[in-house]
Amino acid sequence: MMSVTVAAPTSSAAGAYLSRSSRRRFTVALRSDVSVTPTRILTNLKHECATPLPLLQQVAKAMSDDMRAGLGLGPGSELGLPMIPTYVENLPTGNEKGLFYALDLGGTNFRVLRVQLGGKDERVIATEFDQVSIPQDLMFATSQELFDFIASGLAKFASKEDGRFHISKGRKREIGFTFSFPVKQTSIDSGILIKWTKGFAVSGTAGRDVVACLNEAMERQRIDMRVSALVNDTVGTLAGAEYWDNDVVAAVILGTGTNACYVEQISAIPKLQGYASSSGKMIISTEWGAFSNSLPLTEFDREMDAASINPGEQIFEKTISGMYLGEIVRRVLLKMTEEGGLFGKSVPQELSTPFILGTPDLCTMQQDCSGDLHAVGSLLYDIAGVESNLSERKTVLEVCETIVKRGGSLAGAGIVGILEKMEEDQRGLIFGNGNRSVVAIDGGLYENYPQYRAYLQSSVKELLGIEKSKNVVIEHTKDGSGIGASLLAASNSIYKQNL
Ligand code: ADP
Ligand code: MG
Repeated sequence: MMSVTVAAPTSSAAGAYLSRSSRRRFTVALRSDVSVTPTRILTNLKHECATPLPLLQQVAKAMSDDMRAGLGLGPGSELGLPMIPTYVENLPTGNEKGLFYALDLGGTNFRVLRVQLGGKDERVIATEFDQVSIPQDLMFATSQELFDFIASGLAKFASKEDGRFHISKGRKREIGFTFSFPVKQTSIDSGILIKWTKGFAVSGTAGRDVVACLNEAMERQRIDMRVSALVNDTVGTLAGAEYWDNDVVAAVILGTGTNACYVEQISAIPKLQGYASSSGKMIISTEWGAFSNSLPLTEFDREMDAASINPGEQIFEKTISGMYLGEIVRRVLLKMTEEGGLFGKSVPQELSTPFILGTPDLCTMQQDCSGDLHAVGSLLYDIAGVESNLSERKTVLEVCETIVKRGGSLAGAGIVGILEKMEEDQRGLIFGNGNRSVVAIDGGLYENYPQYRAYLQSSVKELLGIEKSKNVVIEHTKDGSGIGASLLAASNSIYKQNL
């Protein structure tokens, strides 16, 4: 056993955001009677995180079942996924015209966008966007402070509109608001925040209509615009991808957090019984981040969850999304250091700091092809303050590989679960002969992490088999969600009839 005293790790997500340079570097001596070797911890980890085909099949099946349960009414439905109706019943047609804005509040970044749509022939005439990262203190601020930040970003951006953009006389500028947290929608342009996720703990928003919160902030900023569509990023991505490709059936976000949505038949949504829909369909936001069935979890996942601001919640999100992969690896490395003497006999305080290792750091390390793993060594030194030898660097890479492989493979299984649910209800829709079913994926994790992407794709292929795989296309749609949200603002415009 080790006799280690380290600074108590902060259990607040704020610990994630200590600046690396401002931390004092000190180490604590360890006893030398190492009882568990890093190799043993690694072997165990690989065993517990393994995703053989039968496990992936079980996860895909559990995803389908939990989707079905969540669409239901009455007893049992609360055990399923939230499966939130979005009230988006029509996808863009291509005829959308005019100037529209989009706002996107994700988990890491806030984006503003304007687009001049030119209808079927001209499509996207001009587009312009701006992005700022969300200041950490706003994640713990009041609702008013957060929405004032959004509205002032919008005001600044709107003041720079140039001659490529123009609006018809008498019309207000309309906004598609992408708000990527669980919202109970009551109509296309309103929705109540159920709870914050992804480390946000803003006070005073849960239970309120987020469009009203934004409207009030816009009034304070004297912005005369109107929110015509409230969507989450998956819905924006689906709409944006569908604008260019009619075969898109589902969209997935893999960024700070994760979610997926798909097009469902109203007749397959018992909880919308009696709802009159113009198209007979509606996009459903699965909120699959809340999924937890059949997942291969480890002590590291359980401890990270327990220390999170939402223990017991968003378990799939905590296993596969960008906010968490680095933190899981850090926890493994900490145990290897404390109990197995990885990096010698001392435990650097840095390694005890929650969220000090980001998913982009794992990605950087995994791209290192040098013989001595030089980049891995310097990243470990910069972030954790440790000197490492080649064998230790290899161990670190194997930990990254194990956690990233599990994440990507499980995300793939989730996608297959959605496709299978759709196919079960409408035979031939997804896997039928000659069909092409496109799943649009966006988000910083999927976009920037080649190994994660590869594991996701091979998991989908492995699960579907050769024949079905021929019909399924996994497509990366970069920044489609902003255009998608503005398209939905256009199709839900109050001026629609004048187009
Ligand atoms: P959001 O919309 O939630 O703000 P994004 O889609 O912009 O998120 O993705 C940001 C997230 O993507 C980061 O939190 C990080 O986890 C992940 N990410 C960004 N760059 C990389 C990278 N190079 N490698 C791996 N993950 C990355
Ligand atoms: Mg996003």
